Amino acid sequence: MSRREEMLREMGLTPVWRLRETAAQPEVPATVVAPVAETVAASAAPAREPSPAANERGAAIMSMDWAALKARVAGCVDCKLHEQRNRTVFGVGDEKAEWLFVGEGPGADEDQQGEPFVGQAGKLLDNMLAAIRLKRGDNVYIANIVKCRPPGNRTPAADEARQCEPYLKRQIELIRPRLIVALGKTAAVNLIGRDASIASLRGKVHDYMGIPLIVTYHPAYLLRTLPDKAKAWVDLRFAVDTMQGLQTQARAPT
Ligand code: URA
Repeated sequence: MSRREEMLREMGLTPVWRLRETAAQPEVPATVVAPVAETVAASAAPAREPSPAANERGAAIMSMDWAALKARVAGCVDCKLHEQRNRTVFGVGDEKAEWLFVGEGPGADEDQQGEPFVGQAGKLLDNMLAAIRLKRGDNVYIANIVKCRPPGNRTPAADEARQCEPYLKRQIELIRPRLIVALGKTAAVNLIGRDASIASLRGKVHDYMGIPLIVTYHPAYLLRTLPDKAKAWVDLRFAVDTMQGLQTQARAPT
């Protein structure tokens, strides 16, 4: 069995789902093939007006280079998540990546190791990446909505996500990825800026500050809900097709 078949098997996708080169395309819902131009406008603006102090903090973070940003995150005590963390989890990968994957927040393993997606969910994420011929660190960057572990792996509170938002925003500005993939509802709603179900957000190209954004399930959810791995595979194929469209667009003469 090839490595790729192993990946697809791991994702629970064999023998039904196959890559385009090897067999027929999976059935794709109509919305999934929406052209890149038909993006769903969405604002990443926070729900309430930021205070002058928050504006000042945000502006300072927005002016940072990688080194300053990493140091700022490592020492951050701006929300209560710092109280129980072992390590901050900044993000990992190619700082010039075309692909950015965004999760929710560190779990226990990530809090110990200081790297996103290194536990069971991380193994599945690595296999999902391999299934579309991507690899952590190679044209791929991985980050989270919050940089510190929420105790008990609870969902980050709105104020925690808000405090962390400028860090991710600055990372995205520095990376300038061609495509963002939001992993799970927390990543999706924080990046898109409105509450909605994953089901309603999948299969569309959203917009994050001018960067196309696609939504799929969180790997930890997929570990608990095996039948939805097939839907995640559809999302990944959609992401690959979208990326190819974006790369073609970028190469086209103006
Ligand atoms: N889940 C996430 O959302 N992020 C991680 O880094 C690990 C698990």
